[in-house]
Amino acid sequence: MNAPHDLGVKLLLVEDEKRFAEALKAGLESEGFSVDIAHNGDDGLWLGTGRAYDVIILDIMLPGLNGFRLCKALRDAGVWAPVLMLTAKDGEYDEAEALDTGADDFISKPFSYVVLLARLRALLRRGEPQRPAVLRCGDISFDPAAKRCWRGQCEVHMTARELAITEYLVRRAGEVVSKSEILDHIWDFAFDGTSNVVEVHMSRVRQKLDRAFGRHSIETVRGSGYRLVADDA
Ligand code: CA
Repeated sequence: MNAPHDLGVKLLLVEDEKRFAEALKAGLESEGFSVDIAHNGDDGLWLGTGRAYDVIILDIMLPGLNGFRLCKALRDAGVWAPVLMLTAKDGEYDEAEALDTGADDFISKPFSYVVLLARLRALLRRGEPQRPAVLRCGDISFDPAAKRCWRGQCEVHMTARELAITEYLVRRAGEVVSKSEILDHIWDFAFDGTSNVVEVHMSRVRQKLDRAFGRHSIETVRGSGYRLVADDA
């Protein structure tokens, strides 16, 4: 692929070192990319979910949401543009973690600009990564990319938080999931709530996913937590 001069490739760069970000933006724009910069993770999430980008470059060490969390948050929000992560050092740990959070490739700082361009072009050729398959438990289906849930053919409309709880239960179907695990997983941004908030939300999920259909998929395991089982009635 040649320089994407007239392809109108939209690129989001999330990088807090402002001079470095501006220099990179200038270089990429001379190659025909159209570049938006966010200087912290929260702005990165706001831009990344609000506009359609063809490719996203994330630094890992960022104020606010770090690059790992930002990548995961973008994926959780259904953003599937290819993500290239800038790792601070060439350590396997960083790279493995970058891939775990849904990044598609990584490049260690300091990097050669030519190599960066080659990586970006490779990602663009590859296009959006494959979305995860729809998850199932009995006749409950959950689409993690679209954040939508169905009981049989009937879509179950829930709040974002209820959907997150449902996704977590479906991913761990058949296992006992404790309230503290749910709390850690769903309220992971410095929330200091108690397990009571889990009970409140779980009762709403149960109402919408089970009672509305006369089912009992969400079992309460006394003293331990909850377990999602197939109840196909
Ligand atoms: Ca940084």
